[in-house]
Amino acid sequence: MEIHYWNRKVETADPSERAQSRLADLRATIDRALGTDFYARRLGEAGISSGDDIKSLDDLKRIPYTTKDDLRSAYPYGLLAVELDDVVRVHVSSGTTGVPTVIYHSAEDIDNWTELAARSVTATGADRRDVFQNMMTYGLFTGGLGLHYGAERVGMMVIPSSSGNTQRQIKLLRDFRTTVLHATPSYLLHLHARLAEGGVTPKDLALTKAFVGAEPHSENTRLKLEAMFEIDVYNSYGLSEMNGPGVAFECVYKNGMHVWEDAYIMEVIDEKTGRPVAEGEEGELVFTTLKRRATPLLRYRTRDLSFVYDSPCRCGRTHRRIGRIKGRTDDMLIINGVNIYPSQIEEAIMQLPEIGNNYQIVVEKSGALDRLTVKAEVHAGIFSDDARDMNALRRKVIENLRSSIVITPVVEFHEAGFLPVQEGKAQRVFDMREEDTA
Ligand code: AMP
Ligand code: ZN
Repeated sequence: MEIHYWNRKVETADPSERAQSRLADLRATIDRALGTDFYARRLGEAGISSGDDIKSLDDLKRIPYTTKDDLRSAYPYGLLAVELDDVVRVHVSSGTTGVPTVIYHSAEDIDNWTELAARSVTATGADRRDVFQNMMTYGLFTGGLGLHYGAERVGMMVIPSSSGNTQRQIKLLRDFRTTVLHATPSYLLHLHARLAEGGVTPKDLALTKAFVGAEPHSENTRLKLEAMFEIDVYNSYGLSEMNGPGVAFECVYKNGMHVWEDAYIMEVIDEKTGRPVAEGEEGELVFTTLKRRATPLLRYRTRDLSFVYDSPCRCGRTHRRIGRIKGRTDDMLIINGVNIYPSQIEEAIMQLPEIGNNYQIVVEKSGALDRLTVKAEVHAGIFSDDARDMNALRRKVIENLRSSIVITPVVEFHEAGFLPVQEGKAQRVFDMREEDTA
């Protein structure tokens, strides 16, 4: 396999060499953070008054975690570490609770982010000859703008189509011979269905790759997308608090996502105790920014669950890899006392070739118990209105779910296109229990 690097020196550096610059960057980050109201107080309480108080990377542990709630409480200026005049962009995220968080970027921040994004897309083999159709939403959400500038820097022709308007997406895709897509996996499944309806097959298109991210998805969904479009699909991880896309990205080996460790310190912790997990164990990802000027963040708890691969990657990059994100700690459902992540349900149903592009998970109260209903679209030709015709498939779905999550769900099948599709991140889980008890 041919390996392309954007910045070979940084990407393949010996981790022990990198440790020196990481320590220097961490100290500088702490000094910058001390210039914010929030960290002046927080670090002061921890007895840290200067970056020099940190003697080794291990001393990072002296710094308390930063949470999403901390970011909310610091809104709007509590975490700003530079003069407002030096800020060139803000990304604001309102999340589900509506209380906003803000990340400021200086010109240098945007430049560093662009480098990480360029490095990320290059790791997949994409290059300046590519035509990049960016179907992630442009705006306050970081998914669109983040890879936009990275792809431009690499020299691709970028089509900033943003999300939605599927008919127009298809026209652009065909007219400009798009080779690389960037979208949520749920939107690509939807796009494929619309293409197929119009009689368009992969042979009519020039696609070779897609970058997918922003929402949890299973390996089966990747395989499904690869087969549908006849392309390679790469997982992309990022979050607004750490810039956005370009935090971790798969290389051509598609075996975990390289976390750019010159720009971030990553830790994996037990979400309950806050202590580091044993090597390779699953836990909550925690990141510290090493390069960011305008909004340095120290030990930010992402709530995202993953694990670190211990083996080196064949691509030669020395940046550690994380596994597919299982979900967020706050996504966990407790159904009749059993802990379940929506991604486990997706994993179990997407294995079945009969299951179509979309599904929903509904949890309700049924007397004293919880009831889990899985609604899944089924491919045309297999779907029947007569529930009896669907019994064999129903049994397979129930069996798969029972063996992975130890729960017997109610299964409802629907025709392709029946369940609603979101432009941005897919909403799959509907937990009606809070409303029932209210
Ligand atoms: P936002 O800050 O709105 O961009 O959302 C970031 C969140 O999206 C992350 O914390 C993850 O929960 C989720 N996310 C982003 N990329 C992925 C991915 N490749 N797989 C699973 N979840 C992802
Ligand atoms: Zn690799």
